[in-house]
Amino acid sequence: MYVISRCLAGYPCRYDGKSKGVPEIMELAKREEVLLVCPEVLGGLPTPRIPSEIREGRVLNREGEDVTEAFLRGAEKAMALCREKGCSAAILKADSPSCGIGRIHNGLFDGGYVSADGIFADMVRKAGIPAVTEKEYLESIGKAAGAEEKTGLKVIRAESLAHRAGAFYVRIQGMGRAHHISLEAEFDDHDGEGTDYILITDDSFPIATCRFYELGQGEAMIGRVVVLPEYRGQGLGRKVVLEAEKWLSDLGFEKAVVESRDVAVDFYKKLGYHVTDGTLLHGPTFDCIRMEKDLSRS
Ligand code: SF4
Repeated sequence: MYVISRCLAGYPCRYDGKSKGVPEIMELAKREEVLLVCPEVLGGLPTPRIPSEIREGRVLNREGEDVTEAFLRGAEKAMALCREKGCSAAILKADSPSCGIGRIHNGLFDGGYVSADGIFADMVRKAGIPAVTEKEYLESIGKAAGAEEKTGLKVIRAESLAHRAGAFYVRIQGMGRAHHISLEAEFDDHDGEGTDYILITDDSFPIATCRFYELGQGEAMIGRVVVLPEYRGQGLGRKVVLEAEKWLSDLGFEKAVVESRDVAVDFYKKLGYHVTDGTLLHGPTFDCIRMEKDLSRS
């Protein structure tokens, strides 16, 4: 059963007293039994309410009042309902301090974002429930305006120095800076001869990338899949991986291998990858799980 952010199903529970109803999600909620929750309302906050953002681990509303306890209380109540109903998947409202997945506002009320989960989304993911934003859900059912429809977006097989520099820029900004990873750790021995890169640009500005290199016996490792925080939730990670797979097929490779972070296993499953043996690979920054995909079937 899905747990869904209540505002996505058309309920006016947002801070501004409005909803963010998505027709396909409203339809899903009519068709199937789903659990609709608004963690902020469950936490006792009124509607409408003063907007809040997370800063340095606390939730503050725009007037500076600390509302962390209400956010935590509401998220815990929503999680208890998820457990009671046996929810196994989540569709959560993008960018919200409660429901946002992978990206939320930066706590400065200036429209900027940081890479992080909202309070409820964090609990959902830690409980092992795969979660997607409304945009990702629409993409998964083929309803979203595809990234390729965005003007100025280009998917590039990065063979020139300029394009490779673009790929490196995305990694420095999206991983190195966001996760405090040193240049030496981010750029390892595989970033050299024999490695190829995919780059996506938006009006020539680099925004997403991945790399791949040969493992031998017709297999290649795809990795360092990075999308700049402000471009997440638009299917660009999927796009770079699919382009890498196409390129690998063109080069005659038969199998693509990834070492996925635990939070990304579902992302790769949706792309047709399967977990090989489930062994956790302990890396310097993240623990990963090896997955692979037979390219001859795609
Ligand atoms: S807390 Fe979640 S469900 Fe409630 S209004 Fe915000 S995004 Fe929607």
